[in-house]
Formats: sequence, structure tokens, C-alpha cells
Amino acid sequence: MYFVAKLGREDSETLIQPQRCTRCSNSSIYNRAYSGEALCGSCFCSSIEEKVKRAISKYGLLKHGDKVGVAVSGGKDSLTLLRILSEMCRHHASKIFAITIDEGISSYREEAIDLCKEFTGELDIPHCVVSFKELYGFSLDNVIKSRRVQGASACSICGILRRRAIDIAARSLGVDVIATAHNLDDMLQTFMINLLNGDMARVKWFDSAIKPKEEFVVRRVRPLMDIYEKEIAMYAFLKNTPFQTVSCPYMNEGIRSEIRSMLNALEEEHPGIKYSTLNSAIRISKSIAIDGRELKLCKMCNFPSSGELCSVCKTIEMVKGNMYI
Ligand SMILES: [Zn+2]
Ligand SMILES: [Zn+2]
Repeated sequence: MYFVAKLGREDSETLIQPQRCTRCSNSSIYNRAYSGEALCGSCFCSSIEEKVKRAISKYGLLKHGDKVGVAVSGGKDSLTLLRILSEMCRHHASKIFAITIDEGISSYREEAIDLCKEFTGELDIPHCVVSFKELYGFSLDNVIKSRRVQGASACSICGILRRRAIDIAARSLGVDVIATAHNLDDMLQTFMINLLNGDMARVKWFDSAIKPKEEFVVRRVRPLMDIYEKEIAMYAFLKNTPFQTVSCPYMNEGIRSEIRSMLNALEEEHPGIKYSTLNSAIRISKSIAIDGRELKLCKMCNFPSSGELCSVCKTIEMVKGNMYI
């Protein structure tokens, strides 16, 4: 099919062909500005799967035969990661498990858990759900409703407790590695926040986030870290992945949403700038020399900690001490 465009006032007509996929010559549906490619739906999806494979091999994220636990929240990123890894694992003799944390956020988390159950059922992947209530004795709703804790950031409390919950689930499943669905935008935003805060220890952390280290309870990998968020959304859409679109009611992004807008505006004007910034971030974090804090074992829970008490035990004490329930 051809589009006919009239050019100028003269009757000169020019036939303009619709853009063809750079890879297969079908009609394209997506222009990838940073690479100059035009892609059809099928080639676009293959390109995303190739990017994940490349990241896994470039950063040495997974080993042959690894038992992989995928942290699945029910959002587009984690369900996409699960879909791609489940396909890859079939070819690499690896076993895969989905792990969902139920923080106890009423009228939000239930929908996500149902979505995850249905999706993991379709993919035939074992699904493990662990709740804050059963692990810690309180839900996130309980924490937020407790008036005296309202000043503390819900996201920071939740993040600390969720990471531990994933570790506990991973231990009980006996997985070798946990894959989380952080994408390139998430990684860059975190890097920029830490940089702007002058928090060099966390800027340095970026290095270990990319190159998984064994000293953590279970090593963590981020196979989507080379992929733009908007391309993951497009992949999820093209694959008809049902995902939760509403945001967490407690979400308070603060400076993160400003950095997201800034990076998106820069990318619009300068395609590929997010990639080059990510590469700079990796090199900067690698080159920072900070006296490594020696990891000990927390005297309460025996998990690795930089002090006598780990951040999880401190948080639990703080929450329980402040709660009226
Ligand atoms: Zn194509
Ligand atoms: Zn502890």
C-alpha cells in the first residue's frame, strides 16, 4: 500500500512508501530513534529478547543451570522479564520461579497477585507469595495507619522489608539468583538521585548492582537494565501481557519523577543520551574508591549487615515501637 502526498502548490505528486522494517521489510510500527532502525512488531520483540540475552552475557548475570527466582510485582516490567526469562530458561536447563511479595496494601496488591497467579499459570512457572504479615507480623497498611510513623517514608520502609522478604523466599526455594526487573530508566534515575545527593557510597553501589557479587545473601541481577522503559511497555503491549497499571497508593517519588522528566526530555532531543549516560554511570561507579564497609552478621537475624543490627531489624523495631496495634 502506498500513501500519496501532495507537495507544494504544483500538481506534482510524489509516491511515498510506508516505512519498511529495517530487518525484514514488513511494515514498520516503531522507529527506534537512537539506532535509526524502523521495526515491525515481530522484529521489535526479537530485538528486546536479544538485548536481554546480550546483557546477561555481557555482565555475566546468569550461569548455565542456575535456579532463577524472578521478583514479580504484576507490573509491565516484571511480567515482561518473567516472560523472556521463562523462554530462555527452557533452552538453558535453568529452573525458574516467580516470587511475589504481598506487602499488605488493600485494594492494590490483591489485583496484582491475581494477575501474577494467572500469568505464572499460563507460563507454567511455580509461584511463591510471601506476605509482610506472615514474616513481620504487620502489613504496610498497618505501618502507614500508625500515626506516629507517618513521617517516615513509606517507600523506604517498604523497600527495606521487601528486599528481605525476597531473600527469605529465595532461600526457601533454594534459588541461586534473584532477577529483578529494573530497567535502564530506573537504573539511571537511581544513579542520578545518589549523585545529586552527594551520596558517593551509593554511587559506588551502582557498580555492584551491575556486577552481581556473591557476598549478598542471594546474588541479584537486573537483566532489563539495558532496555528503555518505554520499549518494555511496548513489548508488553505487543505480547498482550496483562499487567497492573495503577500505581501504589503510597508511592511518593519525590525527586525521581523530576529526574525522569528531565531524562525523557533530553532523550527526545538527543536520542541515545540515556545509553551514553548509563555507560558513564557504570564507569564512574567503578572508578570510585571508598573504603569498603566490612560486612558482619546482624546479631538479631544473622543476615549480612554493616552494623550490629541490620536495616531490617532496625526498621522492624522502629515500626513495632511506634505502632498502636
Ligand atoms: Zn521486521
Ligand atoms: Zn537483622
